[in-house]
Amino acid sequence: MNTSILPTYNRAPLAFERGEGSWLFTKNGNGYLDMGAGIAVNALGHSNSELVDALTSQANKLWHVSNLYEIPEQQRLAELLVDTTFADNVFFTNSGTESCELAVKMVRKFWYEKGYGERVEIITFDGSFHGRSSAGIAAAGSEKLTKGFGPMLPGFVHLPWSNHDAIEAAINEKTAAILVEPIQGEGGIRLLPEQCLKGLRDLCDKHDILLVVDEVQCGVGRTGRLFAHEWSGIEPDIAMVAKGIGGGFPLGAVLAKTSAASGMTAGTHGSTYGGNPLACSVGIKVLEIVNTPEFLNSVTEKSGLITQGLLGLIDKYPDIFEEIRGTGLMLGIKCKCPNLDFVREGYEKSILTVPASDNVVRLLPALNITIEEINEALSRLEQTANSLRIAK
Ligand SMILES: *Cc1c(COP(=O)(O)O)cnc(C)c1O
Repeated sequence: MNTSILPTYNRAPLAFERGEGSWLFTKNGNGYLDMGAGIAVNALGHSNSELVDALTSQANKLWHVSNLYEIPEQQRLAELLVDTTFADNVFFTNSGTESCELAVKMVRKFWYEKGYGERVEIITFDGSFHGRSSAGIAAAGSEKLTKGFGPMLPGFVHLPWSNHDAIEAAINEKTAAILVEPIQGEGGIRLLPEQCLKGLRDLCDKHDILLVVDEVQCGVGRTGRLFAHEWSGIEPDIAMVAKGIGGGFPLGAVLAKTSAASGMTAGTHGSTYGGNPLACSVGIKVLEIVNTPEFLNSVTEKSGLITQGLLGLIDKYPDIFEEIRGTGLMLGIKCKCPNLDFVREGYEKSILTVPASDNVVRLLPALNITIEEINEALSRLEQTANSLRIAK
């Protein structure tokens, strides 16, 4: 263990030297089936040849110029996003946290410019996660994230999950926006109940406030649509994006309608690295691959296969598993054993999964995982459950 690194992470004692598709290999050649994909980041698996080509050909031309100049790759990626989403404008960041920062600033500036400077409160939900910056932890508000880091940035109202009467009752003249993850990732793969996002959109329309969706984990094809909110047929005003969009290269974005973005004029926000040529070249290729009906449908088909297999495992191991949650390739297994025990035992069976709150084990594989790999994953998950049962 390297003690020169700030010890903020509980790392597994595993180090990988190379990756290929849904597989990671240690120095001595042991292969691990990667069902976490770097927490929903490696959307097209490891060392995807098209992404490697996009990155290396850009690397041979130009790495960084700053946003003092026009960046054609940024322009192209923004156009790809605008052409197929609700958004009219895109700002590029390097991470989900930075996307959250801008979303919060954009909401506040919107109302300020309209002459409603007191409208600063954003309603957020229990169990949510919006990153680890001062605004991100204040937005989520849980004790786990905020304890010891006070005073918190004011302006967030935390409400229980999906009680629309309580949400409506909480809206007042200070309310600026509602911020919600269509599917909570860190919170334990909790799906907004059917019609709920629609209901939130209606509430926002009725009370004239903005709807911001955090699609950092559930976006970019993960649910079988480019963005998860599309399933409900609504359009948000602002969307936060990161993780999958860079396929492993640090890249994030804030998508917005022109109206919502109207306060963000020249000089109001910036990022040295945001939208740099390397990141955008990779992002363009990720979108070109993911955003086709064939690719997105394949995510839904694979989801069906995994879900079916997992339901079989629940029947067989009711002492280990409680329920399956999620949609697309954003799935969670709520465990009866401690979820960390399951993840750790998975390492022994050479399968990588990701823990989440609420005693959930997440499966967030590469979106191009093969059917053989899905079957292999189910077999390794079963072996993992079996060893935990024997150990009991
Ligand atoms: C991961 C995540 C973030 C933070 O993204 P970083 O890239 O780690 O800054 C924000 N929101 C959600 C929903 C996430 O899953």
